[in-house]
Amino acid sequence: RAKDQGRNNFQMYDSGMNVHAVERLQMEKDLRKALEREEFLVYYQPQIDIKSNRMIGMEALVRWQHPERGMIAPGLFIPLAEETDLIVPLGEWVMRTACAQTKRWHDAGYPDIRVSINLSAHQFGQATLAAKVCEILEQTGIAPRYVDLEITESITMTNVERAISTMLELKNLGLHISIDDFGTGYSSLSYLKKFPIQTLKIDQSFVRDIPQDPDDAAIATAVIAMAHSLNLNVIAEGVETEEQLEFLRERNCDEFQGYLCSRPLPVQEFEKLLQQELQMRR
Ligand code: C2E
Ligand code: MG
Ligand code: MG
Ligand code: MG
Repeated sequence: RAKDQGRNNFQMYDSGMNVHAVERLQMEKDLRKALEREEFLVYYQPQIDIKSNRMIGMEALVRWQHPERGMIAPGLFIPLAEETDLIVPLGEWVMRTACAQTKRWHDAGYPDIRVSINLSAHQFGQATLAAKVCEILEQTGIAPRYVDLEITESITMTNVERAISTMLELKNLGLHISIDDFGTGYSSLSYLKKFPIQTLKIDQSFVRDIPQDPDDAAIATAVIAMAHSLNLNVIAEGVETEEQLEFLRERNCDEFQGYLCSRPLPVQEFEKLLQQELQMRR
């Protein structure tokens, strides 16, 4: 595309790419070091049951506490980690950390809620995934029913038969599986019913403009109805307003996640929410 715009533009694009490459290389080096130095943190965001208004789960979301650049959001380093295979040790670290933290909270007497952990395409494709998950469950002592693994539609669609067998392996270990960002990928509905999953997460792009946008309202409504007819649980992501929540409640959406309840929080702050939850339940 840069070429079509003439020679000058092409050269600019070209040198821009060099800068980008250098920066990328630096970031890749930084990522490696960050793994050794444990510069990553896991934040937690509550998942709320819409009917009861109780917290019934949380999503683990990684952050990078960079020594010079400060806190970096996952959107800025997960794609690079994915390209460089660093996602495998990073993803394992997140899983181990989130499982250990959840078990600690359970043992401390907080409500026994489950934890959702994002799996990257690369992790999901590893033949050793189930063995790794088993090892982490054993090491941390968390019961598998409290662990939910989130995978995106595109991950499942590259090789559907293989994806189904991986999902079955995980399911047979007792874990839950959710499809993340549902609606943004290309999953075929005929496969969806074959997937051994429990939950669909409606992508936040369909939630953002409900109830005003008629297309998004129709999509959200249809996804909820379809999930229920397949006996799946539905979570809406990115819920920020009471109006959105009301819309979802009227359509019997099961759970929500979003700033309306809380942003993702570091351990100490999330613990305050768990404390409140405990008091509400008494
Ligand atoms: P995701 O799994 O779909 O996570 C939801 C994202 O939406 C999170 O962004 C969360 O902070 C954000 N969010 C939650 N509620 C709201 C809301 O009400 N409004 C808006 N505007 N946003 C909301 P975050 O933490 O920046 O993570 C972005 C993505 O990075 C995640 O999307 C996930 O795909 C990826 N990611 C995060 N942690 C991990 C990880 O440990 N492993 C892998 N493989 N990917 C991860
Ligand atoms: Mg997710
Ligand atoms: Mg999502
Ligand atoms: Mg997303």
